[in-house]
Amino acid sequence: MLRDLFRKQKKYATIPSEQVKKDIPEGIMQKCPKCREILITKELEKNLNVCKACDYHFSMSAWERIESLVDTGCFVEYDQDLQSEDPLQFPGYRNKLQKDMEKTKLNEAVVTGEGYIGGYPVVLGVMDSRFRMGSMGSVAGEKIARAAEKAVQKRFPFILFAASGGARMQEGVLSLMQMAKTSAALQKMNRHRLLFVSVLTNPTTGGVSASFASLGDINIAEPGALIGFAGRRVIEQTVRQKLPDDFQTAEFLLKHGQLDQVVPRSKMRETLIRILDIHADRREA
Ligand SMILES: [Zn+2]
Repeated sequence: MLRDLFRKQKKYATIPSEQVKKDIPEGIMQKCPKCREILITKELEKNLNVCKACDYHFSMSAWERIESLVDTGCFVEYDQDLQSEDPLQFPGYRNKLQKDMEKTKLNEAVVTGEGYIGGYPVVLGVMDSRFRMGSMGSVAGEKIARAAEKAVQKRFPFILFAASGGARMQEGVLSLMQMAKTSAALQKMNRHRLLFVSVLTNPTTGGVSASFASLGDINIAEPGALIGFAGRRVIEQTVRQKLPDDFQTAEFLLKHGQLDQVVPRSKMRETLIRILDIHADRREA
């Protein structure tokens, strides 16, 4: 005790940053990439993965998204076991698929199925950007096309959440063909006068933005989502012009008439319920 009085003490304790990293196990906290606020992962999850300080929308896994949307315990998954082959024998592709399957516990970059949202039956598809960057291979395309067919059979609306880097390069032209296949399946919905709502989340680019993600009867996006076909640099080099800072953001697209609405995640479920309510088929009631 007495010894402490004579010891030279610093006024403030300083913790070296390396030490902080060691003391906070990975996964407990996350840094917001937009405002750099340190966020507690559990609180972030409770807030639907949206930063409380600046409203930045972190990505969501397919199952987190489904849970945040459907009425409790009512989702039935379609085509759970469909898995990609390696049609072009692309070096390392099988290995990469395997790793992503282990990491995400998914068999593909999209989960499809049916459930209820606010009591309205829907077919729902949700892409997961953690699986091969949400890229559209032949299985992802097939699952989306089959989901649209199911919507036609059952006369349900179809809601699809896109999150994708575009086509899957390891499947070459087969991947590009999914653009036509999914578009044709949605056209069938259109012929049957069924509602298709596309929700574009961060990021929705390449072949996905150029096919089903832009074909909604209603196209919605999450705030700040990057949406576009080619990347900014490619376009700047091609047109030899500097592009505006907010180019290819959801807000820019809304301003220029390419989207119907930008909806924050906290309002997504109620917005969808309102849309479903407006379009509900009441002839049987
Ligand atoms: Zn933030």
